[in-house]
Amino acid sequence: MAAASSNPTPPALVCPKCQTSMPASAAFCPGCGHAMKQIPPADRALAALAYLTLVPAAVLLFLPAYRHRAFVRFHAWQSVLLWGAFGLVTIVSLLLSNVTAAMAFLLFGILTALAMFFLWVVLSLKAWQGELFELPFLGMLADRLR
Ligand SMILES: [Zn+2]
Repeated sequence: MAAASSNPTPPALVCPKCQTSMPASAAFCPGCGHAMKQIPPADRALAALAYLTLVPAAVLLFLPAYRHRAFVRFHAWQSVLLWGAFGLVTIVSLLLSNVTAAMAFLLFGILTALAMFFLWVVLSLKAWQGELFELPFLGMLADRLR
């Protein structure tokens, strides 16, 4: 893994046992005969890392070193698709909730305006009729302020 990261042009496959480089199509390590069909720990780690949001998955897909690592690319793509779907669902739900919130605010605004108009009518009438009509809390405050 350290050799792969320090090498400017890393080989497609590196034997996890003896670090021998080989083409991606190699089924067995030419150095030690290690079966290359099993997934190297580095690839498994990278595949797991690919699920940490879109960023590592996208980086893995764009790195030329991982072009032929089908296992890593599969998980990177799956992560991209999963996060893409999650992002889509999030955006849609955000849009829907914004519409709901906007409608709620509109309704709240209308109700508040109606209530304010109603209160204005009632309070004006009461005052005109000479009554000391106290609103809860606000009337108490006004009583202290006068
Ligand atoms: Zn080997």
